Amino acid sequence: MLFSEFAQYLEKLEATSSRLSLIEILSDLFKKTPASEIEKIVYLIQGRIAPFFTPIEIGMAEKSVAASLANVYGSRKEDVIKLYQKLGDMGLASYELARNSKFETRNSKLDVGDVFEILTQIAKTSGEGTVEKRQKLLSELLGRVDAVSAKHLVRVPLGNTRLGIGDPTILDALATAKLGDKSQRKLLEAAYNRTSDLGLIAKTLWEKGLKGVQKLEVRVGSPIRSELCERLPNAEKVIEKMREVDVQYKYDGFRVQIHKDGDKVRMFSRNLEEMTHMFPELISATLSQVKAKTVILDTEALAYNPASEEFLPFQETTKRRRKHGIEEAAARLPLKAFVFDILYKDGKQLLDEPLTKRIEILKNTVKADGVLIPSENHTVKDPKALQLLLDDSISKGLEGLVVKRLESPYEAGGRNFNWVKLKRHSDGELTDTIDCVILGYITGRGKRVEFGAGALLVGVYDKDKDEFVSISRIGTGLTDEEWREIHKRADKIKVSHKPARVNSTIEPSVWIEPKIVIEVLADEITRSPLHTAGKTEKELGFALRFPRLVSFRNDKKAEEATSVDEIKRLFEIQYKKK
Ligand code: ATP
Repeated sequence: MLFSEFAQYLEKLEATSSRLSLIEILSDLFKKTPASEIEKIVYLIQGRIAPFFTPIEIGMAEKSVAASLANVYGSRKEDVIKLYQKLGDMGLASYELARNSKFETRNSKLDVGDVFEILTQIAKTSGEGTVEKRQKLLSELLGRVDAVSAKHLVRVPLGNTRLGIGDPTILDALATAKLGDKSQRKLLEAAYNRTSDLGLIAKTLWEKGLKGVQKLEVRVGSPIRSELCERLPNAEKVIEKMREVDVQYKYDGFRVQIHKDGDKVRMFSRNLEEMTHMFPELISATLSQVKAKTVILDTEALAYNPASEEFLPFQETTKRRRKHGIEEAAARLPLKAFVFDILYKDGKQLLDEPLTKRIEILKNTVKADGVLIPSENHTVKDPKALQLLLDDSISKGLEGLVVKRLESPYEAGGRNFNWVKLKRHSDGELTDTIDCVILGYITGRGKRVEFGAGALLVGVYDKDKDEFVSISRIGTGLTDEEWREIHKRADKIKVSHKPARVNSTIEPSVWIEPKIVIEVLADEITRSPLHTAGKTEKELGFALRFPRLVSFRNDKKAEEATSVDEIKRLFEIQYKKK
């Protein structure tokens, strides 16, 4: 496919504000795409040249891209930057420059594969003079394309395609294009949950059909989407619903999925991001403590002092999520990883084994003494015993318990009653925080106008529909510093119309792409006609009462915000203050 034709599809995708038409446009595009190109097209739509977890970045700074534009269209870099500042988007600046330039190439014969290759070359450039080499490659590439292509191309090295297309939408479109409709998305999704690689799913579907996709197994080196917890209010309800359970502590650190392949170890965050380089002590521990050639472990890493049995608070542990000064940080605050599951061992996928079997394999695979610590397990069928364990965990300064169904398989990407988290206050008022996505801001009056925001419109994620639905407006509790931070980040992702995957009847002054996740504490979840979260023909939506910002969840993608299903559950179990 010619890149210029592909760019026309990107143009249409950018212009729509309806999710259904996103699927339609994408599936039209996919129908025209041959097997040899489908993988590349899928990555490019995500603004990448490899799956998300592969740390290949085409990263270029704005100034650098501006220099490329100046170079190719015969302009001055300062003027390009001015134009960019005026238009607020380098893509638009690029389009303007190309359109008014005699250097625009209208009948480019470059196809998607050619462009993909040049972008890969840019990404792989390293060593001395990288910045200049990348600029040169990008200029040369821009010099061979039309204005619309240039607009979309420059957004790739800047890491923002402005398309706002989520993974489920791509899966819907792949299913529609190849299997007739989106009813079979779930089957594609299951394979995606095991491999986290949309390009691979697409390529396999094109080459080997649905059967081929269903046969895709987990791979060492590709993160598996994490299984997550549902909530229940108290120990009685847990036993009532789940009968006999395996009980583990809920450690309050961060999730690390450890992949060992011979003497190579890689680690991924819950977000599927590569974090191998951050934790050298976990690498050496894996190599020395794991008795298997290949393995995938699910763990929670945190700072822990085995002598005093002290768990350090999350605020301490989280200091280890850093890109620089790794060795010093590791020396100052060494981590332990509590290993609570094993998903793969020596060529065998273990997802479908029951939990009890996986735990047995785990205990036989990880030597107990060291930095990796197999988590403690208790089998319990009595609410009183469960309550004692909960009290015990709280007294140790932990968050609570994770209770798991004994016979359950590992459901990659699932959040259901196979795993339930039990926290101290689950039974009381709403103390669990909610992770919301900022959808836009409403300009205020008075003192805060300087920061351009009076309130934030925030939403949660509707998994089934792959949509962000509004749940609250938040105005209080933000410091001036936080407003400034939000403003700085939000202004980079402002959009001119409601993003296609946002569903809200409230119209903020400024829409932004749903990307920034914040942790919010509220007194209560109520019903409200204003919001679209959980709203159906018969029922009102959900809203938050007295919401306030607790923190920025930079570790979460928008799709990992609290889901409507979780809100529903929280609504059901919350204690209503009399
Ligand atoms: P939170 O904000 O509490 O981390 P969450 O949405 O990120 O919530 P939950 O589904 O509520 O995740 O809880 C699961 C998380 O708890 C896991 O992602 C993991 O990081 C952590 N965890 C700690 N101990 C365990 C354990 N024994 N088994 C499974 N997960 C555990």
